Parts: sequence; structure tokens; C-alpha cells
Amino acid sequence: MESDHIPFSNLPKGFPDLPVFIQNFSDFYMVRDDKLPFGFGTKWRKTSGILRETMQNGAKEILLWGAAHGNYLASFAYIFRTFGFFVETITYSKDPKLKTYNERLVTHHSHRMHCYANRNLAFEAFKERKLRFGGLVLPEFGIHPGQIPGLVVLWKELEKKIHTKLSDTFHTEPKAGAKAILLLEIGSGVSFVSAYDYFYNSPILVQGVMVGESKDSWYTKHENLQLELGLKKRKIPIENLIEILDENSQLEKRKELIENKKNVTQKKTRFARGQHHHDDLLRTFYEKNNILLEPIYSANSIHYLLKKQNENIEGVPKFPVFYLHQGGQIQHLNSVFPKPFSI
Ligand SMILES: *Cc1c(COP(=O)(O)O)cnc(C)c1O
Repeated sequence: MESDHIPFSNLPKGFPDLPVFIQNFSDFYMVRDDKLPFGFGTKWRKTSGILRETMQNGAKEILLWGAAHGNYLASFAYIFRTFGFFVETITYSKDPKLKTYNERLVTHHSHRMHCYANRNLAFEAFKERKLRFGGLVLPEFGIHPGQIPGLVVLWKELEKKIHTKLSDTFHTEPKAGAKAILLLEIGSGVSFVSAYDYFYNSPILVQGVMVGESKDSWYTKHENLQLELGLKKRKIPIENLIEILDENSQLEKRKELIENKKNVTQKKTRFARGQHHHDDLLRTFYEKNNILLEPIYSANSIHYLLKKQNENIEGVPKFPVFYLHQGGQIQHLNSVFPKPFSI
């Protein structure tokens, strides 16, 4: 691939190049972080700074916790193990026997691992273990200021490329106020707040698509998240957050209102909701474009983007959208390929 990445000094030998690749679609552009090794996507960028920082401090052990079948734990366990760390993980899974791509990666890249039946038990065990752990301890989703430098490399490169694309397409000078939208999902929201911070007061508007929780709930925490990441506290306009409300999630919302606050952990199960909603989209999108979407994150946003294409609201200018596919798709290969054998 062309040499379009900015070298990140002091990364360990063998750390992959992380090129920024943009693919044109008829109505939007896709930033293809899903092409990074093993489908870990943007998680590669997030680990790079933590890895560099930790290696400089001389830490050799890392404690991680999270869902056994998620991209977060799979990628972090793999990357830290590969670059010489002793990896201890605390995981949870409803079905202790279920083997998946991510679960296999977590299991085989942990030197020590404990699996619990649910998130609460795992969290309790993590808090206990943390007290006696000597090395680096990462909280849920790996929230750490070290995630930011690798992301900033991405935003810088993306900014350059967006300006080039826009001057190609619209023959406008970037300085003449070219406007574009960067669209990405909000899981923990690290990618989103980092992008918001980088593109603050720039012609690139950053929009976040809610995935794991409601916009109102995430909104109350965003300034705290900025502080935890060492970013400036900035109030993000709530209009920048998109909550895709289909029939099912509206129902969820109503249910949530009724059960309000009593059941904080219950909320987490919203994450799994809609797992199978986008099966058709996943298949057709793959057949047409040879790109595998991730059912919880990217398929949701692509569904939204394709629907929005058809709504031409008069008087509202249509800015070109750059959607960031953050990876995580390999876990879901079976949504486009038939199972090798049936049981
Ligand atoms: C981690 C992850 C996200 C969410 O990133 P946050 O920074 O936690 O919001 C989105 N998509 C994929 C595939 C991920 O693995």
C-alpha cells in the first residue's frame, strides 16, 4: 500500500502499519479500518499509545476485563500478549461452553483467565484482583489516555484525505469552508470524543451513532469521559448524537422508562439487542461490496445511511458523509458464509 501513514515512533518491532484507506460509495465514503489485521479495526490504533507508554514505564503485566465474545478483549489480549506482556483477563459469558472467534483469541492470549457467568460477577472479581495486581490495570473498554495518540494519527491523516477528496469532487478550496460529516459509533465513546476534540471548530462535523446505551444516558457521562482521557472538557451538542429508533428499541425505551434506574445492569443487555436485525443487510452488503459489516456497530449505521439517502429534505444541505468502519467483523463471518456443517 502507498506510504500514507504517519510513523509512530517507538512502536515495538512487528507492530503493523495502520494505513488510512477511504472507499467511495455512491452516497458516502467509508473509512476502512476493518481492513486492519484480524478485523481488530480501530483497536489497533487505541492500543498503540498505551503499549508505547507502558513499555517505556517498564510494566510487563496487564489486567483486562470485559465480555469474552467482544472485539475489545480479543484485540487487547492478542496485542499485549504478542508484544511481550503477561496477560491476565477476567471475562464473562452466559454460555461457558460457547466458542467463538473472539473468545478463542481471548482464551489463547491470556496467561491467566477467569470466566464468570455475568458482568456483575466479573466486575466484582476485577475490583478485588485489581487491589493486588502489580502491572497495568485497564478499566472496562480499556479507557485510558494512551488511547488518544493513536487515534489522533488517524484523525490527522483523515483530515488531509477528506480535504483532498472534497477539492477533487467539488472543486472547492478546503479553506473556503468545505463541510463534511464524520460518522462513527459510540460504544464507550472514546473514538467519538477523541474525534470531536480533534475536529472541534473545524469544517468537519463529528456525529456519533448510539449503540450500547441511550443518548440521554451517555450524555450525562461524556464530560467525565473526556477528563478520564486527558481531553479538554467540552460540552458536546446533543444534536451530534444519533439514536436510531426502530420499533424494537422504542419498545426498549419505554420499558426502560417504566423500570427507570432500578435496573442499571439490565441496561447492558440492550447491547445484544438487534443482533439479528441486520442479517439481510449484512448479506446483501457483502454480496454487493465484498465488505463485511458488524451487526451491532456498522450494520446499524449503514442501515441509517442508506435510509437517509432516500430522504431529501429540502433546504437542508447534504454534506458528504465519511463513515468510519471500526472493524470487529470477523466474529460474524457466519452471517455471510454458511456453516461448514449443520448440527
Ligand atoms: C470498540 C469498538 C467500537 C466502539 O469504540 P468506543 O471507542 O468504545 O466507542 C466500535 N466498533 C467496534 C468494532 C469496536 O470494536
